[in-house]
Amino acid sequence: GVHSGVGFLGMANADSDFSSRPSSARIYDALLGGNHNFAADREAAQGLLTIFPLAGDMARANRAFLSRVVHYLLDRGVHQFLDIGSGIPTVGNVHEIAQRRVPDARVVYVDIDPVAVAHSTDILKDNPWAAAIQADMRFPDAVLNHPTVRRLIDLDQPIGLMFVAMLHFVPEDDAYRAVQSLRSALPAGSYIVISHGVSETAADAKEAEVTALYRRTDVSAAHGRTRDQILSFFGDAEIVPPGLVWVHEWPDGGDGDPHGMAVVAAVGEI
Ligand code: SAM
Repeated sequence: GVHSGVGFLGMANADSDFSSRPSSARIYDALLGGNHNFAADREAAQGLLTIFPLAGDMARANRAFLSRVVHYLLDRGVHQFLDIGSGIPTVGNVHEIAQRRVPDARVVYVDIDPVAVAHSTDILKDNPWAAAIQADMRFPDAVLNHPTVRRLIDLDQPIGLMFVAMLHFVPEDDAYRAVQSLRSALPAGSYIVISHGVSETAADAKEAEVTALYRRTDVSAAHGRTRDQILSFFGDAEIVPPGLVWVHEWPDGGDGDPHGMAVVAAVGEI
């Protein structure tokens, strides 16, 4: 089931636009059992669980992938992270994982959702090397030229560019163009990380239902892409072993998606 939350800053105002319209960030928080969500978000999360009973497991498997991939990048000398569509802070955020090993690792969280950004800013207020900005990744220049990104991220040093469970909320052309332009700003030794809803599985039939559910939220729609479409986000980056696999199987491999979670992941080296 979906946990009930205390609401944003402890005060849910049922009349505000904020709380009456579900957001993908807060639906996801509700799925993870977080408490930064409103009744409308919990209702949408419950709706998602009706279509996809495994949505909560999917979200947790995705968070576990995020943690493994940060360790993987740290092992390869990446000490700067640009986490796009970072969501509401929950257990195991990028800066917590990274700064435990590299205290001055740099992290900039980017999200379109004001609630996600407000919570992130709040938990980062005493952290000199991590910050959150509100931006729409469909405008990559605004992300790259943002003063906070300029201050914290050195575009001449390797960067981990992460799109974890977010690109399926970004419509077709916008998504490819924006990812390409962010990717091409990265120096050699950088990595691009993607986890993404895939639509070649049993999930296909449910796609229309999920799209309809998300149409009521702040994002245009959630739509899976095929494996080839997801791979095309990587451009010339070299996909590292084991390639594009089910999110819970990265990087150790496995056989198939016994759980029907319908989210795949890969990492590419620039
Ligand atoms: N990356 C986190 C994770 O995997 O745990 C959160 C994923 S959450 C399912 C997707 C996030 O993408 C939401 O917080 C949403 O607000 C954000 N998002 C959607 N469209 C966006 C856009 N165009 N630019 C920036 N963020 C966006």
